[in-house]
Order: sequence, then C-alpha cells, then structure tokens
Amino acid sequence: MFHECEKCKRRWSYPLSECPYCFVSLKKITGEKAVVRGAAKVNIPTLFHPNVPYYVFVLEDEFGNFWSHKSEEKHALGDELKIKASSDPDAVAVWRVKYEHREAIEKALDLIGGAGVGADSKIVVLPTLEKASHSYFRDNISPEFLSAVLELLASKGVKTENIVVAGQSFGDLPAPAMAQKSGLVAACQKFGIIPCDLSEGEFEKRGQFEISKKVLDADLTINLAMEKMGRAAAAENMFRVLKKENYLGQIYLSSEAEIFAALSPLLPNAITIGEAEFVQRPNKIAVFMGLVLASKNAVNLDRVFNEIAQSAKIPEIIKNITAGGIPIAGRSIREVQYQAEIF
Ligand SMILES: [Zn+2]
Repeated sequence: MFHECEKCKRRWSYPLSECPYCFVSLKKITGEKAVVRGAAKVNIPTLFHPNVPYYVFVLEDEFGNFWSHKSEEKHALGDELKIKASSDPDAVAVWRVKYEHREAIEKALDLIGGAGVGADSKIVVLPTLEKASHSYFRDNISPEFLSAVLELLASKGVKTENIVVAGQSFGDLPAPAMAQKSGLVAACQKFGIIPCDLSEGEFEKRGQFEISKKVLDADLTINLAMEKMGRAAAAENMFRVLKKENYLGQIYLSSEAEIFAALSPLLPNAITIGEAEFVQRPNKIAVFMGLVLASKNAVNLDRVFNEIAQSAKIPEIIKNITAGGIPIAGRSIREVQYQAEIF
C-alpha cells in the first residue's frame, strides 16, 4: 500500500497522517499487480535469512510504485508475481507486517478466503489475555493489534454494538485487571466497546463442555492469539471459551490435544489471527519476527509459527502435526524462517 498527497502528488510507502508539505491527509493507493522489474539471487546465508538460495525482486504495481520482495521462487524480468492463496480450511496464511498491522491482517485473512463478515455479523473477539503486564512483554495481544482488528471490522461495515471483546481468567488475577494493565481496555474504549468478562456470562452444555453462550450465539469468533515460541498460544486461547471449572476438570482428565480435538468441531465459525511481529522467546524476552498469521485451524497456525521460529521445544498438543503437510498461503515457511530463539 502506498500513500499519495492529492495536492502535490508526492508518494510514500509508509503511512503518514498528513503530507508534510501541504498538510492535507493522504490517499491510499492499493495496487493489484506486481511485475518483476529487477532481480537478484542471494547465495550467502545471513542470520535473518539462513535459507539460501533466495531471490530479491524489485516489483512495480500498475501505478508505478516500486518495492522489494524476497521469494524462494525464481522469476524472470517482466513476470507478474502472484501470491498463493488457499481456500483449504486447514491452510495457514503467513504474511509480513510492513508498516501497518491492519494492512497485514487484512491480507492474511484474504489469503485464506476472508473472514466473511458483514453489517449484521455478530462477532466475538477473543484476545490473548494471560497476565497483568505492559504490552511490550507480549504476554497478551498488543493494543495496537487489537485496534487494527477492530478498525478492520469497522471498515467492513460491522456495527460496534455487534462486536464483543471478551476474555476470561483461568488464574488468580481477574480478567479486568489484566485487560486494564495490558492496554486492551483503552484500545476497546477508542471504538466505544466495553470489554466483557466471559466468566460473568452464561455457559451452555455441549457434550463434555460448558461453552460461553456469547461465543455460541456469535456468527464468528475471532481468536486473537499472541504467538509464543515453544507454546501453542492459539489453541490455548481457544480454551478460554470454556467455563473455568469445566476447563480445569477437562485438563485433569485428558490431554490438551484431546480437548482441542473435541472442542474445535463445536466452534465451526472460528478463525484465528496470530500476532507475531514481536514474540516472546522461552526466556520471556520478546524478539522481532515481523509476521502475522491467519487460519481457520488454530493448531495448524501454532505448528507453522513454531516451525518458522524453529522452536527447540514443540509443545505436546501440536507435536503430532507435520508442518510440511499444512497448506501454506502467502509467504513460504522457508522465506521467513530463522532461529529467533538464539537472538
Ligand atoms: Zn503534498
């Protein structure tokens, strides 16, 4: 996406609130095409780009904008570069965050067929909420990421009164305290949304589970997962739709993988968006990865994320999933993979 001043026609590849010359707001330009205008093959691995060889292309859209793009595939000058999408419900979209979360989230969702929301869609947004900590620790979804998702929903015409931002605590600290400290309450307030604590609402029995009525009544549940190395953050966050006592009982009786396998068919209208721009390493220090992921299959998303980060420890719940067997849309795993844990 490029940004143009309609008065002086200057353009920027990054978002500015206004033109620094004319002080007017900028128009967004989104090109559909990407034609290869320059190409280089890289054979020498670096820390952030260990998989060689790869190609770096200079691309041009139909408006004459240029940008660079890394790819595993070889293309000739003049070729049109097409990004692979997938309608497979098990597919995982991988996309780079360039300057704006919203743009990257929208692209990732489009790559797996879109979220399919409209003006009257009732939506539950379930952000990862684990600790009462500041957003830079990346324990919880960052307020910027939540804002970007809410902004995107608003741009699709979804009414704010039909959006529920919900959380639940499975620990000792109440969810409102965590939401306050993490900045998520402030992010909701910008959109006039009052976040809701699922534990105070009703739950309905579905087989062995007691699931939040709000989630069951929604047209779509958006599982916003703060990805973490060596963890299955997306799957873990899905468990928050259960009543706390019910979850604790389940976890006592069966494995997380079994719970997830039984729970996910009961939540067919769920989509997971994984925040992975800055992610926590096992030592709790956040590192830059610059990614956003999206999938209708939360465990596949966790597996792909851990494959990209080359996590030393793959959690039990996703251990039996082979990363190579998951359909990938957008960027390939090899293109964005590096051993983020060692930095
Ligand atoms: Zn201008």
